Amino acid sequence: MYYTPKKDLLKRRIILVTGAGDGIGREAALTYARFGAHMVLLGRTESKLHDVKRQIEQECGTSSLVIPCDMLTTTSEQFFLIAEQMSQSIPQLDGVLHNAGLLGDIALMADQSVEHWHQVMHVNVNATFMLTQALLPLLLKSPSASLVFTSSSVGRQGRSGWGAYAVSKFATEGMMQVLAEEYRHKNLRVNCINPGGTRTAMRAAAFPNEDPDKLKTPADIMPLYLYLMGDDSRRKTGISFDAQPGKKPGTVD
Ligand code: NDP
Repeated sequence: MYYTPKKDLLKRRIILVTGAGDGIGREAALTYARFGAHMVLLGRTESKLHDVKRQIEQECGTSSLVIPCDMLTTTSEQFFLIAEQMSQSIPQLDGVLHNAGLLGDIALMADQSVEHWHQVMHVNVNATFMLTQALLPLLLKSPSASLVFTSSSVGRQGRSGWGAYAVSKFATEGMMQVLAEEYRHKNLRVNCINPGGTRTAMRAAAFPNEDPDKLKTPADIMPLYLYLMGDDSRRKTGISFDAQPGKKPGTVD
């Protein structure tokens, strides 16, 4: 996507990113902060979140809120408690990027581990739904909030071997569409990003024989992530965007 954002695109905006400690989420958190946002960093590994917080402080001079949270085990009540605690230090949320995700087994349906299936569906769908429920009141306090889910090309067209991950991404697309309809006339837009093949640990786990140098980096795909968090996308809702349009989806070797 060709998009040149203004340097202060996200000034005075408060944005939460899940899975902010690594991969695409880490890059998104750093990028949003560089464009002026105050960040809320949520993720599983606390030390990684603190590394991102430190880097934001050094580069941008702003302090981020760190929320260690394993989405596999967090209950709905605990998500509401997290939102309640956040509301004591921030007035509103102007954006949420649901980015945290689990890959699960790359295996035929017949061979998918039931335990891993449940884990993938829980982190990618159930916990993402519960966290959204808890954060909606803070999002609705913003004059123009953006809720972004992370999808995948296998969440639009099923593909052999992608099992729970593909099914969870179909559900993610559905969750985005339902919410977009429900908030169409409010100050909340809801969209999906399909990052496309991107150089991260998850991609390497899915395609161990691939040359990572041939892939886009998380930094390369940030224009779309910025566009959807800033006011230039104010009228867009219910859309599934591609960060790498026209790129053919990969296949498992
Ligand atoms: P990574 O595996 O590199 O990063 C995933 C992030 O999610 C990590 O920060 C990880 O935390 C966090 N996470 C995983 N499980 C949990 C959990 N239980 N609770 C809280 N946080 C958790 O993945 P990517 O950066 O590649 O992927 C980001 C998103 O993009 C995912 O939703 C993925 O499905 C999607 N995507 C990625 C593509 C790609 O090619 N990379 C292509 C299409 C979609 P921790 O640091 O502790 O591991």
